[in-house]
Amino acid sequence: MRVYISIDLEGVAGIADRRQVNRGTDDYEHSRTLMAGEANAVIAGAFDAGAEVVVVNDSHGDLCNLRPADLDDRAQLQIGSVKRPNGMTYGIDAGFDAAMFIGYHAMAGTAGAVLEHSFSSATVADLRVNGASWGETEFNAAIAGGAGVPVVLVSGDDAACGQAAAALPGVRTVAVKQGLGYRSMRSLSPAEARNVLTENAAAALRSPLPAAFAPEPPYELEIDFLTTSMTEYAAVVPGARRPRPRTVAATATSTEELNRYLASFLDLAVHGLGI
Ligand SMILES: [Zn+2]
Repeated sequence: MRVYISIDLEGVAGIADRRQVNRGTDDYEHSRTLMAGEANAVIAGAFDAGAEVVVVNDSHGDLCNLRPADLDDRAQLQIGSVKRPNGMTYGIDAGFDAAMFIGYHAMAGTAGAVLEHSFSSATVADLRVNGASWGETEFNAAIAGGAGVPVVLVSGDDAACGQAAAALPGVRTVAVKQGLGYRSMRSLSPAEARNVLTENAAAALRSPLPAAFAPEPPYELEIDFLTTSMTEYAAVVPGARRPRPRTVAATATSTEELNRYLASFLDLAVHGLGI
């Protein structure tokens, strides 16, 4: 069995504030340790359940947060920028049997959710596919699903877990903390979070695997940006439409194309920052 782990940071136990997730702050080094602890907890659970290969994809920020030497020796690490089109599911393919999304957070616009956003808190107000708002969990699950890989475990705060359970029938969720606001939470201790993650990672792989999340194409992608300037940049993409001043849209016929539209829109929109 081959297992793909996509690990973000905002949904890790003990993380509540933006200071903790940004490189260069005095909190950041400790956050890297917390992130590695949860990665190792899930790796251990996967091997307990008989995994032969476990790949960990660093999925936060510059995609370069985990210190390689911190990781369980049995796992392989994908790290480094730029991993495109979507750095959070980079390298996932049909050779994997199951995916796990660890340290994830709720989508942009979720009340009471810790550090909620959809791919970019600096630019994205809302992201929709076929009319439904999608966060990173839903979008990345669709990319995994396009490769036939089911998401079997999602962890994060209670809001992230609720959204995952609503979108992905049969997924197992682990809430390592309860969101009390955008920058506040009540968390399990890191040690207890790791215990629960190890147990649930193993249980998820020992249970019948759920179906992959594979909504039928075409995929109508719409992104509402925070400013018209960001939207002007994004709308340059061939095939893009601009149904409203701050909304860019495109129709993808495959998850691969959907992924490319997302990356193109986001990478261009950042040029509108501060303008
Ligand atoms: Zn992140």
